[in-house]
Amino acid sequence: MFIFVPEIHIINAFPLEINNLSEIKSLLDRSENIVVSTHTNPDGDAIGSSLALYHYLRGIGKKAFMIVPNDYPEFISWLPGNDEIIVFGRNYKAAKAAFDRAELVFCLDYNAIHRSGMVQDVLRECKAPRIMIDHHPKPVEEDFDHLVSTTDTSSTAELLYEVLIAVDEQFSPDTSIATALYVGIMTDTGSFSFACNRPRTFEVTASLLESGIDGEYIHRMVYDTFSEDRLRLLGYSLAEKLVVKMEYATAYIYLTARDLQRFNYKVGDTEGLVNYALSIKGINMAVLLTQRKDRIRLSFRSKGEFSVNEIAAKHFQGGGHRNAAGGDSYETMEKTLARLEGLLPEYKSRLLEPGNA
Ligand code: MN
Repeated sequence: MFIFVPEIHIINAFPLEINNLSEIKSLLDRSENIVVSTHTNPDGDAIGSSLALYHYLRGIGKKAFMIVPNDYPEFISWLPGNDEIIVFGRNYKAAKAAFDRAELVFCLDYNAIHRSGMVQDVLRECKAPRIMIDHHPKPVEEDFDHLVSTTDTSSTAELLYEVLIAVDEQFSPDTSIATALYVGIMTDTGSFSFACNRPRTFEVTASLLESGIDGEYIHRMVYDTFSEDRLRLLGYSLAEKLVVKMEYATAYIYLTARDLQRFNYKVGDTEGLVNYALSIKGINMAVLLTQRKDRIRLSFRSKGEFSVNEIAAKHFQGGGHRNAAGGDSYETMEKTLARLEGLLPEYKSRLLEPGNA
């Protein structure tokens, strides 16, 4: 087993070297039935990278199946091939059958089996080798047979592109693959505003555009699809539910089940909301708290060096990246807010570091 870590400063030297390339190649060659899986609550990168790989595999004649644990937002439900995605939570039979037949399983955009949510038991039972392709830190190595892991690429979609050009000299993305990869890179970089200082990210993006896709159209399809309810929820959240703790460079928004109900909440309606809190000058950490059925979901964002990954992992059973992470609390909203606020003094000096602003 190898962990692949590309050199970040190489700009034009590609394809990037992938240590376990020949094993991945031979597994691909000898496998006919292949499952592509991703993490629970799939985001644009999860859906984008998985669909791209799904299309690629179908294109080279494999019997590929794409399985996601649960539903995902409408703004990523329009991609080519969306109707072929098997949602485990709604179509267990088809998902289980695909895993039973699988000779190879790809795990995209997640670094530990438990991140696949309700798929995890079936995934663990499945005898097929697992190849992880992911850009989150600290993968759980024993969960996979082969890992392609780096935190240097903007997204799993970008990393997958590197893998595909490395395993297949003929690889040239068609518009379905390019659209899916573009969505992955665009959403994981917040429309090319973070995690995108590596020039290579733009080279990969440029090559996707060269396949003939319409980047402006894709942007509109993902970002300009608010319902009236969603826009009003945004307005309400900013006007009524935003708390700014300037002395800790922190701002948070908290939404109760009642708040969400009032605006007929649908999956994806709070997407991007946390970034508004982070956009305040002098704020280095933003948190969105939303009340779910059995827990409070926390979504963290930060600027600069301040690691929300750490705070999410240490205090809220979660994790993610340095500047974007998530976690859960099984206490009430009031208790969760008190706990969050109680942590701020401990992090104060790091939150206020000038490098972050
Ligand atoms: Mn990602």
